[in-house]
Amino acid sequence: MGSKINHCFCAFCRSERRVYRKKGISWVNIFASIVVSFVAGLIIWQDFDLRMIPLFVLALGLAEILIQIRWRLSIVCPHCGFDPVLYLSSREKAEEKVKTHLEKRRNSAAFLLSKNANLNLPFRKIKPEAQLITPKKPESVDPARKNQYSSRQSPDQAPIAP
Ligand SMILES: [Zn+2]
Repeated sequence: MGSKINHCFCAFCRSERRVYRKKGISWVNIFASIVVSFVAGLIIWQDFDLRMIPLFVLALGLAEILIQIRWRLSIVCPHCGFDPVLYLSSREKAEEKVKTHLEKRRNSAAFLLSKNANLNLPFRKIKPEAQLITPKKPESVDPARKNQYSSRQSPDQAPIAP
């Protein structure tokens, strides 16, 4: 029997995390539901009673619901809040959820001090026309001004002493 927990990487932030593989009830849960309903029936009615059968069905339904909830909660990335199931149904809602989670994370000291403080988030490339600041070339000296400057300093132009 393999492990119920699977290690995987988030599709959005690429951080390693754990997810539950089990999505529904198994034979172990059916057996546990039989035992629970039998014991509860013995406690309630003090003897074997056919009313244990609805109790068994109830326990089985409860186990199924809890396993589904556990799987659904584990599929959401704890680091960036990405929900792959929601992404399949509504991309906008998934984006909004990630934005909300990252905003909350940015303002939380617990997240900032955690091991996974720096996420490997995807980024968009900036288009070349969107770059507003262009590097300036060093300003070249105007040749006319250069001559003016050098002529002022030349010994020919120096004031003549009386
Ligand atoms: Zn993630």
